[in-house]
Amino acid sequence: MRLLIMGPPGAGKGTHAGALAALVDGPHISTGDLFRDHVGRRTELGRLAEKYISAGEYVPDAVTDDMVRDRLGRPDAARAFVLDGYPRTGTQVATLDALLDARGAAVDAVVELTVPDDELVARILRRSAVSGRSDDTEDVVRHRLAVYADQTAPLVRAYGERGLLLRVDGTGTMDDVRRRVEGAVAAIAGATA
Ligand code: ADP
Repeated sequence: MRLLIMGPPGAGKGTHAGALAALVDGPHISTGDLFRDHVGRRTELGRLAEKYISAGEYVPDAVTDDMVRDRLGRPDAARAFVLDGYPRTGTQVATLDALLDARGAAVDAVVELTVPDDELVARILRRSAVSGRSDDTEDVVRHRLAVYADQTAPLVRAYGERGLLLRVDGTGTMDDVRRRVEGAVAAIAGATA
């Protein structure tokens, strides 16, 4: 199964994508993690991405799309994966559709984690002490939320129109949310089996 996990910064995408990846038996592919790995290794891509990430802006589509195309081309992602943090723009949606279409495949479902804005900010500021992320400051977090609402939330609605959206309440304990996410995915896995 090929899944996307979407939701604003701080919604818990990374946490639950890991559990989902085990469930679908494919890799958890986080564009944020891939970028941070490049930043840490000071690659050319990392140096380019760093300034966008620190400002809470999206890395340009061409760069992001190339990185994802590369990653999805690896054998472990041939049949199943959980994409976390991609696509975030209309161009990225089109790139992903074309990429999968060329393999005779498509996105099977999109999990959206919903959490109120105030809670998102509180969560990110709490974790900032341990994350050490340059983009986990209050100003940058608020900007990331605004960019998400402007550029990415409409894409989630478009996946809804395609009938692919599984909306999951992302509040409560981590276990509560994990059970909801797994329940939603199991229901469609049963329906498509
Ligand atoms: P969050 O969802 O909390 O913002 P991520 O780790 O998913 O965190 O992403 C961190 C940053 O990496 C983003 O703010 C952005 O700068 C960059 N990034 C990640 N994914 C993408 C993407 N698909 N397109 C453009 N930039 C991205």
